[in-house]
Amino acid sequence: MSSILVTGGAGFIGSHLCERLLLLGHEVLCLDNFNNSYDPAIKRCNVAKALRHSHYRLVEDDILDESLVRGLLKSSGTDAVVHLAALAGVRRSILTPLDYVDVDIKGTVSLLEACQKNNVKKFIFASSSSVYGTCRPPFREDAAPGAQTSPYAAAKHCGELYCRTYSLLYGIKASCLRFFTVYGPRQRPDMAIRTFTKAISEGRDIFIYGDGSSSRDYTYVDDIVDGIIAALDLDREFEIFNLGNSNTVNIMNLVEILGNKLKKEVHICFLPEQQGDVPATCADIGKAAGLLGYSPKVKLEEGIERFVGWYMNYSDER
Ligand code: NAD
Repeated sequence: MSSILVTGGAGFIGSHLCERLLLLGHEVLCLDNFNNSYDPAIKRCNVAKALRHSHYRLVEDDILDESLVRGLLKSSGTDAVVHLAALAGVRRSILTPLDYVDVDIKGTVSLLEACQKNNVKKFIFASSSSVYGTCRPPFREDAAPGAQTSPYAAAKHCGELYCRTYSLLYGIKASCLRFFTVYGPRQRPDMAIRTFTKAISEGRDIFIYGDGSSSRDYTYVDDIVDGIIAALDLDREFEIFNLGNSNTVNIMNLVEILGNKLKKEVHICFLPEQQGDVPATCADIGKAAGLLGYSPKVKLEEGIERFVGWYMNYSDER
């Protein structure tokens, strides 16, 4: 059994990860400030199941509080940190770039500092496919990164650079995992699959930015959690991995699948392209397959079915 600190553990991906770590018999310390990037009541629901577990401890505080983080690492005997806390969201980062510098860059460095001071030697960083910016898909980890198209993407790239530096300076074994459009139960309410599902099920228009030709590599949250768990077991100094599905889907196909699963007609309103968006993402997952044994299992149709099933129950409850 290990003791693992999960920052952002009340969020979408973090709450799934915490539950899996508990199932695997680990001690989990979740650090989350329940910020209002979306309704904090949603995050309360996310942690409800884990809170019933005796090996789970929730600390409601900020990763930017350096002395608190150092104290937590010391008192909990943490073996590894999975750093998921961040301001996520490409478009919002264009409006409030300095907030992203604080949380996504300074917060990451602050955690790495706390790790080196407390001899924590394993660090997993939630990076993003958006780091590839203007690169041409399929994206490989060894490709020279293109220009990042948003402050969010630039901040994630910067976080990766700091992980590499701390790995070199202090021997922290760091893995940066570039997640590709994650979906599944508890998905953030600002993300496309969830906003589309809500609008379609309520008979409202969905908004598509651009001409409908954009495409994404959608990855089911359980597959992402598999990748994170595998990275925790990896014994290498510094690595970057793509965690995607390696199956790019056009947004119009996605919408069609959603309409079919919801058994509803879809009404689309096309709007001009938004700043910060890239036309397409697609992960080359060869490296993750080779070193992590990563092999995504949930196909989009099946994942959407699971998501819609969860969403209908969830919105009935609330
Ligand atoms: P999320 O917003 O649901 O989770 C992030 C959590 O971090 C939230 O619960 C929030 O309250 C917490 N948090 C934010 N700032 C904090 C701070 N200063 N102190 C403590 N807690 C703080 O987002 P998510 O979709 O679960 O994403 C998790 C991570 O994965 C993020 O780093 C995100 O950038 C990255 N990522 C997500 C996706 C995706 O498709 N969801 C894709 C690429 C990368």
